[in-house]
Amino acid sequence: MTDKYYVIGNPIEHSLSPLIHKEFATSLGIDLTYEKKQFGIESFTEELKDLIADDSVKGANITVPFKVAAKGICSSLSERALRAGAVNTLKFENGTVYGDNTDGAGFVIDLEKRCHVSLKEARVLILGAGGATRGLLAVLAKAGCARIDIANRTYEKAVRLADEFNVRAIRSEETGQAVWDVIVNATSASITGVLPDVNPKALNKAHVAYDLFYSKTPTVFMRFATQNGCPFVADGLGMLVEQAAESFCLWRGIRPDTDKIYRLLRD
Ligand code: NDP
Repeated sequence: MTDKYYVIGNPIEHSLSPLIHKEFATSLGIDLTYEKKQFGIESFTEELKDLIADDSVKGANITVPFKVAAKGICSSLSERALRAGAVNTLKFENGTVYGDNTDGAGFVIDLEKRCHVSLKEARVLILGAGGATRGLLAVLAKAGCARIDIANRTYEKAVRLADEFNVRAIRSEETGQAVWDVIVNATSASITGVLPDVNPKALNKAHVAYDLFYSKTPTVFMRFATQNGCPFVADGLGMLVEQAAESFCLWRGIRPDTDKIYRLLRD
């Protein structure tokens, strides 16, 4: 019986995950299927339980807007999923559901591998205080950064998150007053081509500007960073591929090479 995997979200048509996981499986000679499934907003839990009842289904990736709801059906959680308060990977085994969150690890690996930045002693500014920021903080708070600051359009949300993860919240107006090595756009502003509020001086002093969003052309945040003198900009495609590899490794016990599929998607 072929093992089955899914990526579940709403909407889901845009997902690149099936392409990525099929390439991983082919490159390793593993026989599995990986498909998209759109679940109803109200019926997510019921539909997920039905899916788990099928013995051939071994795991799933969970995406927007179900990452928090999926946590609720897990029998156990990884430490980083617990800290993030959300899961993006489920593993089904002998009637149990294990939940993990590989987003933060995907970001850190991509940052080190493709942006050549170590987070040890790095000063990091994160713009945004949503689910993606939670996933990053679950890992970054333990990565040995010298400082982590969060700025968000709704300042109170940044304060709540900063308190929870023991980092610092700053107001967007204050982003011209300090120096960060890495500035991460973890807002969803790039989806609509909007620039989040950040002082150009901060980008001038940063080594890397990283947008979690990915697209065929540089995002407005990446262009703004380049125009203001930031020497290295990146989007979230590498993070997407690396978080997928982490999920695959959890399911199959082997970490696939990510470079080939990264290059394919980039091209
Ligand atoms: P959420 O909806 O949970 O959070 C959105 C955040 O963006 C909030 O902090 C919100 O601020 C802020 N925001 C939204 N619009 C604007 C705007 N116009 N100007 C300034 N701030 C704005 O989204 P997620 O955290 O789940 O996702 C964030 C981004 O990360 C998305 O672009 C998503 O595609 C990307 N992502 C990429 C991944 C990858 O693998 N590359 C993985 C996961 C996410 P406020 O609190 O004020 O509303």
